[in-house]
Amino acid sequence: EQRDGDQPEFLQAVREVFESLEPVVEKHPEYEKNGVLERIVEPERIVKFRVAWIDDEGKVQVNRGYRVQFNSAIGPYKGGLRFHPTVNEGVIKFLGFEQILKNSLTTLPMGGGKGGSDFNPKGRSDAEVMRFCQAFMTELCRHIGQFTDVPAGDINVGGREIGYLFGQYKRIRDEYSGVLTGKGLEFGGSLARTEATGYGVCYYTQEALRVLKNDSFEGKTVVISGSGNVAIYAAQKAEQLGAKVVTVSDSNGYVYDPNGINVDVVKQIKEVERGRIKEYAERVPGAEYHEGCSGVWTVKCDIALPCATQNEIDEESAKALVANGVQAVVEGANMPSTPEAIAVYQDAGLLYGPAKAANAGGVAVSGLEMSQNSYRLSWTFDEVDAKLKNIMETIVAESLAAAKEYGHEGDLMLGANAAGFVKVANAMVAQGVL
Ligand code: NDP
Repeated sequence: EQRDGDQPEFLQAVREVFESLEPVVEKHPEYEKNGVLERIVEPERIVKFRVAWIDDEGKVQVNRGYRVQFNSAIGPYKGGLRFHPTVNEGVIKFLGFEQILKNSLTTLPMGGGKGGSDFNPKGRSDAEVMRFCQAFMTELCRHIGQFTDVPAGDINVGGREIGYLFGQYKRIRDEYSGVLTGKGLEFGGSLARTEATGYGVCYYTQEALRVLKNDSFEGKTVVISGSGNVAIYAAQKAEQLGAKVVTVSDSNGYVYDPNGINVDVVKQIKEVERGRIKEYAERVPGAEYHEGCSGVWTVKCDIALPCATQNEIDEESAKALVANGVQAVVEGANMPSTPEAIAVYQDAGLLYGPAKAANAGGVAVSGLEMSQNSYRLSWTFDEVDAKLKNIMETIVAESLAAAKEYGHEGDLMLGANAAGFVKVANAMVAQGVL
């Protein structure tokens, strides 16, 4: 706390994990002896750099770039890049810390990392985004590599940005390798990567509902926040599994569609036109647009899937969800619930699926993209999707097994933290103090 007092998101993420780990550390004195907790909260390396680029008016713009290489105990650093004006060192550290345990849960050999910039792509032309990505990679390329650190996308970093970043890496390093994931299908990308996080959230939810409540998505009303990559494919899969999704949102407001969100319209507005979600209500009869994004949590539902950003559900929003009879909250975004909101879910006995388990499908398929790049072949959509579903079901099973082992049966949060941690901690102990 002394060292990181100005990084509230990072402290929040660590506090939640460390509370869960109390019964784990009690059972494993070797972790204390080897300083595992002290070491795991200190990134192995942080790179911060200037990103200077020229906008369409010919003016020089300067942003700050980050890459936090947090933990490489079980594999090369792996985690997304976020471009958003709210990005700072504490935000990237919270995301990188979560990524260590998430990547461990996927069962694939990936360490934890995260990066990004305070660059705001809103209102920027395609050419400006390209020049920014090229400037960003001009520095980042010396710190990453297929066996060292393999970044991917996150907020405002999708297929377009990964393409520009990959092109610049290749140009400077003169090397064609799987150094980024989320690539286009023509140059080493994996089928089902675009869908993976959203689909994975739903596979996880479906399995947790089945095991813990003998229930499913069938006939359920679902509230989703966000309208980006995670939200779109969570909505699509929830609908395929028989649910009715009634909302999507962005940082300005939310759309309520009592007839069920038409995902094709959302995809057209967000993926093709890069527009605002407000336009949905102008195109779909019966849909309403409401200003203010937090209002989405006052919409009555059975299942809530927050898929926008951190701390988007506070205590008041959590209470509104519970008062409206919500049965499950499963996190597509990273750390979307404040600690007070989580306490509300727990008091109400909800099925609560924490982000590092529920949204691990994205990085899992990124791991599968790395495997395909190494093999120099591509699997079909159905093959990747089947592997993704299997990984998500395994995460539910392993979380529940760990929860039971450490005396908190049915607690998916404690179980995910414990299961993810033990593998990394054992690797850190085995590799010695470094
Ligand atoms: P996108 O950039 O595709 O979409 C982000 C969505 O969230 C947009 O609708 C955006 O609205 C909204 N949003 C962003 N910031 C805020 C804010 N401060 N307040 C309200 N709404 C906001 O990102 P993704 O869908 O990829 O990411 C969403 C979440 O999922 C993030 O927490 C990310 O870390 C997490 N995640 C993503 C993975 C992936 O594979 N993409 C994997 C695992 C987790 P607006 O356009 O107004 O900004």
